[in-house]
Amino acid sequence: MEIQLTFEPRLHLFVGPAQRTAEASVRCDGVSTLGHVVESLGVPLTEVGALDTAYENPDVGDAALAARSAAEERIMLSRDRGLLHRRELFAGAYIYSHRPAEQLDEVLIRFAPPLAPWTRCTACNGELREVSKENVSERLPTGTQRTYKSFAECTECGHAYWRGAHAGHLDEIVQHALEQVRR
Ligand SMILES: [Zn+2]
Repeated sequence: MEIQLTFEPRLHLFVGPAQRTAEASVRCDGVSTLGHVVESLGVPLTEVGALDTAYENPDVGDAALAARSAAEERIMLSRDRGLLHRRELFAGAYIYSHRPAEQLDEVLIRFAPPLAPWTRCTACNGELREVSKENVSERLPTGTQRTYKSFAECTECGHAYWRGAHAGHLDEIVQHALEQVRR
């Protein structure tokens, strides 16, 4: 199969002249991860910070999702076959499992994305920054201030985060995810 890739100008020193155009056609086997395809063209994976995640919450509809995939060159992950057939998509991947834990494994194994745990807001995908307890105290439920020491807030929506009673379970999920992409 052939896919279209656009490399940022700062990456042009890594790729051949044919890949420096706005939409370079690249042959791939349809099995390799996007990361591997990019790497095979000469770009070190350490330089590929732009293979980033985005999601819409609440749902904005198929047309808007597909348009965003095209405009921002993002891979659409979905169980909706109708959505994946939309011609304007940049790229799409069908998610086979119904179960969230298995869905995560599918994506990790297929795309092996660079992982940065604990850096994004689960409500809006904004970046998190560490803050002192005093900075978020008004946004915390009663009792949280006494019990916990480590806090962060979303730089986009202001949602406050702290390491609570569920942190151990989340640590397990993150640890499992890191092992999946290292395989
Ligand atoms: Zn947020």
